[in-house]
Amino acid sequence: MTLSINCKDAGDPVCTHTMYGDTEDELIANAKKHGIEVHGYTEETWNEEMSKNMDNIKKFIKSA
Ligand SMILES: [Zn+2]
Repeated sequence: MTLSINCKDAGDPVCTHTMYGDTEDELIANAKKHGIEVHGYTEETWNEEMSKNMDNIKKFIKSA
């Protein structure tokens, strides 16, 4: 099973990048990498964002 999440679904107004992972942990790790590389997050601001929005973001995870 492959899990995926799309940046736009997760709330970004312009980015349509899709992240993938075999597990939820892997998916979140890939999303973090993308967030830091593309969206200018730091380890700290990402963790802060996730602590606020994780439940919301999990609703947008698709499995295929
Ligand atoms: Zn993005």
